[in-house]
Amino acid sequence: MTSEYPLRLKLDGSALADNWRALDRLSGSAACGAAVKADGYGLGVREVVPRLKAAGCRDFFVATWAEAEEIADLVEGCSLVVFHGVRKEDMEIALASPARPCLNTAQQIRRWRSANGGACDVMIDTGMNRLGLSVADATGGLLDGLAIDTLMSHLACADEPDNPMNRRQRDALAALAGKAGAKRLSLANSAGIALGSDYAFDLTRPGLSLYGGVQTDSLSPHIRQVVQPEAQVIQRRRIGPGETVGYGATFIAASPIELAILNIGYADGYLRSFCDSGVAYASDVVCATVGRVSMDLIAVDVTDAAGVSEGDWLAIEYELPTAAAQSGLSQYELLTGLGHRYQRVWT
Ligand SMILES: *Cc1c(COP(=O)(O)O)cnc(C)c1O
Repeated sequence: MTSEYPLRLKLDGSALADNWRALDRLSGSAACGAAVKADGYGLGVREVVPRLKAAGCRDFFVATWAEAEEIADLVEGCSLVVFHGVRKEDMEIALASPARPCLNTAQQIRRWRSANGGACDVMIDTGMNRLGLSVADATGGLLDGLAIDTLMSHLACADEPDNPMNRRQRDALAALAGKAGAKRLSLANSAGIALGSDYAFDLTRPGLSLYGGVQTDSLSPHIRQVVQPEAQVIQRRRIGPGETVGYGATFIAASPIELAILNIGYADGYLRSFCDSGVAYASDVVCATVGRVSMDLIAVDVTDAAGVSEGDWLAIEYELPTAAAQSGLSQYELLTGLGHRYQRVWT
């Protein structure tokens, strides 16, 4: 027998599939892939990948070879790409893996070529100054003889549609068309898809918006929420005027209030930046967080929710744009921080 978790994460599998289909449609004639790094952005990669594959996705992206190993048995007939390329330590696993590297540096290219590694992708840095070769490197002979599937670059400011950097990066990648012997070009992440068909090239690589993230207004009609945390009430209590709540006694009651103590805390990704801004819902009553978030607990005000008692489940506000505004965390941090103490329940 296993014990029931006092904390659960409801995951909407049809919203996940619908989000991929919407992004695929918005990608026009380009294929639409899926970034499933960081355990499928915290949702659980082994649950995410089969759902996306069933929806039609055939291109998956992870950050490291350990992440590729984790899903290698789930992606038959698909392409699986490791963004961070190949280190010396990766070569044995990489050569035996169905995944291919996205090569980022001259050293990675030499390593892959001298091992006859076969198909690969290549990252071009068009201005972000994160990973990838310069445009000059890419056209100076370094790529000769490589079997390049996809030549890609990554946008620094895709969530700011008016930022002129988007166009500059797009034009820099477009200028490489036909010059590197790649079968496909790829640029757009989730927000990049919303920049329009000029940005789609042959393959798009959304991550965040698959999982309900919306960073640019034009995507919001197309994207549904996927995750919904729910926490159980461990105790209900009434406190009088002048009494304090939580570590640091930061909250002092001005009048009598009723609290529910919920089983969720910063170890579950519900960081202290939600203090005084996060809310839970008891049916449709909004219950504000009170005092500091603890490691495993929060207190919420249930004065107006008379029916809430020990053992009840409350939904935590986690609509990603809303929760990001409440906490100052990014939507990416909200997802990838969720942690392992949730019972993940897919519907
Ligand atoms: C993470 C990542 C993506 C996905 O980006 P989102 O903003 O989550 O859509 C695409 N490409 C690269 C290179 C990435 O690292």
